[in-house]
Amino acid sequence: MDNQNDKIIYVIGTGPGFEEGLTLEALKILKESDTIIGYSVYLDLLPDEIKEKELISTPMRKEKERCTIAFEEAAKGKKVAFVSSGDAGIYGMASLMYEIGASYPDIAVKVIPGVTAASSGAAILGAPINHDFCVISLSDLLTSWETIEKRLKAAAEGDFAIVLYNPSSHKRKDYLKKAAEILLKTLREDTCCGYVKNIGREGTETIFCTLKELATSQVDMFTTVFIGNSKTMMINGKMVTPRGYLKQDD
Ligand code: SAH
Repeated sequence: MDNQNDKIIYVIGTGPGFEEGLTLEALKILKESDTIIGYSVYLDLLPDEIKEKELISTPMRKEKERCTIAFEEAAKGKKVAFVSSGDAGIYGMASLMYEIGASYPDIAVKVIPGVTAASSGAAILGAPINHDFCVISLSDLLTSWETIEKRLKAAAEGDFAIVLYNPSSHKRKDYLKKAAEILLKTLREDTCCGYVKNIGREGTETIFCTLKELATSQVDMFTTVFIGNSKTMMINGKMVTPRGYLKQDD
């Protein structure tokens, strides 16, 4: 830990879910912590030796409460680790922790990076984001659908490879279809796509398809979707976005 006299909350990205997907830095800090705070699903995925510590969880949608508890526990002098899946700074709790932390000036917040679903999913599919890429969440809980549409359109016009987080939920079953239809206005129907369900967890599933097929694919909220750029191709069963080393035509 940085300075034993200072109060610090570590906001830790725990990677996709399997133990080896935790970074050594994250594991070290978790071992040194007294109290681990997080959403119960992610606490369950932690190594057994970490689960023996004091664990505090709140249900989904209680994010503000969860963050506030972390500061209250740290204020008592406990070494607090706040966990978020993947990378805490990518659709995670890191920014909210800084925002809530503004009311706790004596407690520092330090983010420990983790392996985000874009990286762990890409590694399963091959090398689909090995050039400029955009990451867009289809969740309109905190962002308007109008903004999401604007970003999808801009990403397609920029010929970025695209990674979609939160492609579906119980209430938003047709969002991937809506997104694919927007992309199809600019991108070729046969644009190389792929998606991975349950990366690093039980029940991992990998699918390769075209953008046209993606528009009719049913995915769940534990899936990350990849849409290639105009140069993305399948090589030996893997989705590859070349950087251009073999063909300098960019
Ligand atoms: N902070 C996380 C992202 C949280 S947003 C990270 O950096 O990975 C939640 C979305 O992330 C999910 O809807 C899904 O699109 C993606 N995701 C997170 N973990 C995943 C996993 N293990 N397998 C597949 N997708 C995952």
